[in-house]
Amino acid sequence: MYDAIVVGARCAGASLAMLLSRKGYRVLLVDRATFPSDHTMSTHLVWQNGTNRLRKWGLLDTVAASNCPPMSSFFIDFGDLRLDGEPTPADGQKYAFCPRRFLLDKFLVDAAAAAGTEVREGIFVRELEGDGDRVTGISGTDKNGATVRETARIVVGADGMNSLVARAVQAQEYNAKPRLQRTYFSYWSDVPSHAVEIYVGEWRGAYAFPTNDGLTVVGANWTARDARDVKADIETNYLETLEAWTPSLAERVRDGTREDRWLGGSIPSFLRKPYGSGWALVGDAGVTMDPCTAEGITNALRDADFLADALDEGFSGLRPMDEALAQYEQRRNAAIVPIYELTCELASFAPLPPDRRQLLEALIDNQPDTNRFLGLIAQTVSIPEFFADENVQRILSTVSNVH
Ligand SMILES: Cc1cc2nc3c(=O)[nH]c(=O)nc-3n(C[C@H](O)[C@H](O)[C@H](O)COP(=O)(O)OP(=O)(O)OC[C@H]3O[C@@H](n4cnc5c(N)ncnc54)[C@H](O)[C@@H]3O)c2cc1C
Repeated sequence: MYDAIVVGARCAGASLAMLLSRKGYRVLLVDRATFPSDHTMSTHLVWQNGTNRLRKWGLLDTVAASNCPPMSSFFIDFGDLRLDGEPTPADGQKYAFCPRRFLLDKFLVDAAAAAGTEVREGIFVRELEGDGDRVTGISGTDKNGATVRETARIVVGADGMNSLVARAVQAQEYNAKPRLQRTYFSYWSDVPSHAVEIYVGEWRGAYAFPTNDGLTVVGANWTARDARDVKADIETNYLETLEAWTPSLAERVRDGTREDRWLGGSIPSFLRKPYGSGWALVGDAGVTMDPCTAEGITNALRDADFLADALDEGFSGLRPMDEALAQYEQRRNAAIVPIYELTCELASFAPLPPDRRQLLEALIDNQPDTNRFLGLIAQTVSIPEFFADENVQRILSTVSNVH
């Protein structure tokens, strides 16, 4: 019997397994995929809050050594208003990275194995085993179709937004939002970019993130309302959107070469209750949010950290497991709900409301507060504190003082 079985071995599951193994627990990590694997839909930017965790875990050097450029510069361009700077660092860690998933997920799986986790790839979990209301294990099949059955004190679903674990336990969903926007992206060579670039137009958006081996991820976004028309001719719509909202990026793309197929999608946003008797959820299985602010990996790494702490408290008897997991849900939600709401607001690509525009205009020529604003997206600055009346009035008053 294991202390924990973790289903899903990417940024949430492999991180959790690694952390639990480092604390001395007996962990089984399973995934239907085999690694390295690129079969997850993601543009894979990791913000400073996330790269700081990778640094603390001793993995950031491996990411940087994979020919993945560090990025301290970040801008958001609203067409007639551009906020350009360096987000407030996380404990001095000032770089975001955009590692390909076939690299990042493999680094995490290897780190889990090095910490003592038993990693089994090619295992398709099909059901949870139980004793009354309590989850006691998993059953599934391996690559040869042979049955696999294992038991544990807790089964963790790190199995993504369509989580089998969440479905099996009927985890309660809350604060759900419909699909708000759709994105299509691809990988380009000879499209120079040295910063995280985000463009927010009216009912449209675009972005560029430099990734491994000199390639740049370039994507465009459309509202859910317009997305159906886009699908018919992705390339034309993509180029038209770049031309309209970001001529400078469009020009670089015209001079570059597309090195991959079109990728993309549209997902709903929701939170799920992340624990119950014998089970827990982490990463997208627990909170899935619109990808327009690229927070999923950063969130997954933090969730894994919080859940590892909670399970340690429960296993070690420091407090009852139920109480430790309730605390995990509270910590998770306190960290994620503000960025979840801000992301859903941005994902509508609606014109900026007048008070928001006034605040953003007040940030121009105010580099320290611009950096703090960019830190909201990098998850290094508290959203409630930044938007608190007192802070907003302080920022607005700096403009009246200047003029
Ligand atoms: C278009 C798009 C762009 C995105 N861009 C970004 C971005 O730039 N930055 C960012 O941070 N996030 C981004 N995201 C979000 C990010 O991809 C997710 O938040 C992240 O992958 C969640 O990680 P996870 O480990 O929770 O789950 P996943 O990465 O979904 O991994 C789940 C794993 O579980 C395994 N699994 C599932 N079911 C089973 C089963 N029954 N048995 C065994 N194994 C199973 C799967 O094989 C998979 O390996 C984007 C998402 C989308 C849709």
